[in-house]
Amino acid sequence: MGNYYQPEIETASREKILEIQNEKIVKQVRHVYENVPYYKKLMDEKGVTPDDIKSVDDIKKLPFLTKADLREAYPYGLLGTDLKNCVRIQSTSGTTGKRVVAFYTQHDIDLWEDCCARAIVAAGGTNEDVCQVCYGYGLFTGGAGLHGGSHKVGCLTLPMSSGNTDRQIQFMMDLGSTILCCTPSYAAYIGESLAEAGYSPSDNKLKAGIFGAEPWTEEMRRSIEKSLGIKAYDIYGLTETSGPGVSFECEEQTGMHINEDHFYAEIIDPETGEVLPEGSKGELVFTSLDKEAFPLLRYRTRDICVLTRKKCSCGRTHVKMCKPMGRSDDMLIIRGVNVFPSQIETVLLNEGYTPNYQIIVDRVNNSDTLDINVEFAPDQFSDKVSDTQSKEKALEGAMRTMLGIGPKVHLVPPKSVIRSEGKAVRVIDKRKLHD
Ligand code: ADP
Ligand code: ZN
Repeated sequence: MGNYYQPEIETASREKILEIQNEKIVKQVRHVYENVPYYKKLMDEKGVTPDDIKSVDDIKKLPFLTKADLREAYPYGLLGTDLKNCVRIQSTSGTTGKRVVAFYTQHDIDLWEDCCARAIVAAGGTNEDVCQVCYGYGLFTGGAGLHGGSHKVGCLTLPMSSGNTDRQIQFMMDLGSTILCCTPSYAAYIGESLAEAGYSPSDNKLKAGIFGAEPWTEEMRRSIEKSLGIKAYDIYGLTETSGPGVSFECEEQTGMHINEDHFYAEIIDPETGEVLPEGSKGELVFTSLDKEAFPLLRYRTRDICVLTRKKCSCGRTHVKMCKPMGRSDDMLIIRGVNVFPSQIETVLLNEGYTPNYQIIVDRVNNSDTLDINVEFAPDQFSDKVSDTQSKEKALEGAMRTMLGIGPKVHLVPPKSVIRSEGKAVRVIDKRKLHD
């Protein structure tokens, strides 16, 4: 049994959670219907009224919202309250197109920071910890969310933001940081930089890392845990629903508990919109149950995921989501085969390579090409061309087994793939330039 930030709700019985959700959804749908003309119109078109929503079971009657709606309604079209009640905006990192802005009342900020505090406590955080936050600060939600959560837990908070890795390391060592919060790709980079500076993993005081905002594999987790000498916890979220903290990992590390008192999750078939039963793989959809300023109902995340209600040894009762396999729009279709960058990462790390890679997709003579640049680890580097070629062939074979299509692998010298301080850009799809 672990520690909880809000034990009463985090370990509440299923009946209690349902009761809370049912009460909140009735109020929330009415709030949205009365205050968000954009969504009222969608409900009217579907012939649904607030009276039709009596429990979370009825959520399936509501229309979906998509990123396209958010872009159409930009900036104020989905606002659920007067601007004078709002105290903050945050914005998406714009990974996949035009930015989306989200609004928060003080109540919304509070519930978001509570969610992040739950994540920090689940990772072992207490008021005795020194929490180094190196997610980006500013419009991006990563910095603000974990910063607020860290305050709530009472950790000594280091608001580092991302970048300036030498300074990150200096503060980490001088102030004895015990918890590190950043993207997994930046955590890997910090681990690499620590080793280069001559530190071994036991030289730092870190015990846990809270890493998210981008997809990362179990292999990547193990590699980071080893390089930093910590336990690495996953955290998930998106600007549209608040930011990080929608769900978080506990010590069992078998999925992330969704904060169900604030967010109701569904898995749908992305083609038909049909709600799928527990355990099915599909697109994750969130309804925020009590946000005031940006109260999205049935928001389609495009993240591909599975939900499970299997009992968790940590004592938390909230539903768990698996690591998202990546967004449906991260999925590459190469010669008709679906490829996720995370599959490539798994092969590389399993074969003993570093997580420093880049995927280049192009179309030559009407046929798709897949090239993967992978760095040698410094101790693997060889001047012999034949050595390199046989390693490349071996990797190509392992990739073919995993992906079902054969890429061209290029082993490149250490440090030639650009490092990430935030969300890593793993894929360059040149086909988009031709279209
Ligand atoms: P953008 O859509 O511009 O990247 P956000 O910063 O709001 O904007 O990113 C949210 C997205 O980041 C999620 O929808 C998901 O695809 C990804 N993400 C966040 N946390 C995780 C995580 N722990 N694992 C995998 N993907 C994640
Ligand atoms: Zn758990």
